[in-house]
Amino acid sequence: MPSLPVPETPAQPLPESGLVCDLPERLPESQISILIVGGGVAGLFAALECWRKGHNVRIIERSPSRSVSGDGFSISTSAIRALQKWPQMAEENERISYEPWVSWHKITGEMISGPAPFQLNQSKNPDQKDLEEKPVPKVYRHSRPKMHKMLCDQLERVGIIVEYGKQVVEYYEDADLVIAADGVGGKSSRITLGREVPARPIGYSIYRASYPLDQALCDLILDEKLPVMENGMPSSQIWLGEDVHAVFGRSADEMTWYLTYPNHEQGKESWSHWVEPETVLKTTAIIKGWPKFANRLIQATPKGRIHDFKLMWREPQPCWTSAGGRVVQIGDAAHTFHPSSGQGATQGMEDAVSIAACLQMAGKDNIPWATRVHNKLRFERVSCLQLLGVVNQEIRHRSVNAQPSQTKPIGLLGAWIWEHDPEQYAIENYDKAMKHLADGCSFQNNNTPHGYSYRPWTLDELLSDKEMGKKIVLEGDWE
Ligand SMILES: Cc1cc2nc3c(=O)[nH]c(=O)nc-3n(C[C@H](O)[C@H](O)[C@H](O)COP(=O)(O)OP(=O)(O)OC[C@H]3O[C@@H](n4cnc5c(N)ncnc54)[C@H](O)[C@@H]3O)c2cc1C
Repeated sequence: MPSLPVPETPAQPLPESGLVCDLPERLPESQISILIVGGGVAGLFAALECWRKGHNVRIIERSPSRSVSGDGFSISTSAIRALQKWPQMAEENERISYEPWVSWHKITGEMISGPAPFQLNQSKNPDQKDLEEKPVPKVYRHSRPKMHKMLCDQLERVGIIVEYGKQVVEYYEDADLVIAADGVGGKSSRITLGREVPARPIGYSIYRASYPLDQALCDLILDEKLPVMENGMPSSQIWLGEDVHAVFGRSADEMTWYLTYPNHEQGKESWSHWVEPETVLKTTAIIKGWPKFANRLIQATPKGRIHDFKLMWREPQPCWTSAGGRVVQIGDAAHTFHPSSGQGATQGMEDAVSIAACLQMAGKDNIPWATRVHNKLRFERVSCLQLLGVVNQEIRHRSVNAQPSQTKPIGLLGAWIWEHDPEQYAIENYDKAMKHLADGCSFQNNNTPHGYSYRPWTLDELLSDKEMGKKIVLEGDWE
């Protein structure tokens, strides 16, 4: 991306009320100019966090307008903590997200346990300070389009307008910094790794749809089978079967359903590959015991609303920066997660916070160090979470025949995940990680599971262990 001028960010505009408290405090100008590529959650939030740290930001996106695509994703406390530094977004996040109560079912619809709040595992020995300072661990469910709108509106309030319809065709090192948030399969890996990251199918696809609740509730049977909770909370039913699982979620205004199914043939890893209900019904017809009412929910889905997304795997890639350190990948561009892992948006936001803070620590003269340190601080954590995605998928499939008392079908979602504060972590560890990279001084990340020494891993190893009947053993405290 050669010599694209990055304009000065306009002075902080006063809201109509004349109060400046609607915006977070901005650090003094750092004189660092940043071009952000990609207007997904990672790029949009990086633009905001970089603005907060006093950097000058320009953001471009290849699509002609703000994305209104996708159904929903989860965002956990580690990323929400960063949103809370933005008063209007903190308030809007509470308004537009929801926290479903979850019940677990067999694939026949028969309930195993729940409904109960979707609780993350609390710290085992929280001290008093922890209890006072740390928010309750939560997973917020967000509609992707509403989340994008919230971030874009906030950008406008600080005077940054996303430039739509601009596509990067090649990356270069001649800017202060390019943050490549260009998503799965983006072009940026050519400058960080020198090649595209190979993707391979994992043998599953997922049908996903979300549509206005009113349209589903025209069918009274659906209202009865997927009722609102007595306490008024939104609900999600998770159905587990041999090699398949489904989710049915009802929020205040939307009905959402997902069906993960084995697929060794056709399918595209694409958020613009749509199918009609009849295609899904061919799949449900071969699921033993699949109840008829669930087909009614699929049939009620409006035309053009069902994604058929082929699940692909990419090995963890440790290098997210270009040789000169002037291009850094964040979000899905740096690390992919399956849509059902619940980590894609959260880790993209953690990256955004971390890179902005590393640049604050480095200053304009040390930008390449900022990107390398950011990479050092983030990679092992993200790689552990990618591994956890594989492990949790296994746990879900093993839970099919479990008794309610034995189920932990959610998988492992320990305190090390949600307690993390990526801004504080970057600030506290920047110098140590920098000395490690520059002079070889010893440094160990502690944003991974306690008691676990990071070891590189590959999916190939996991698959061959699985074939030999070996279980994945996770040392340390992943729960
Ligand atoms: C259309 C779409 C729908 C999605 N829906 C869901 C969903 O329903 N549930 C879910 O869990 N996840 C969904 N995802 C993925 C999810 O949004 C991400 O995993 C997560 O939010 C991390 O976001 P990201 O910013 O890293 O990547 P993305 O959200 O993929 O954003 C990357 C952005 O970069 C832009 N871009 C790519 N290449 C270029 C280029 N050369 N020049 C300029 N811009 C470029 C893309 O157009 C895209 O807007 C969706 C992604 C997309 C693209």
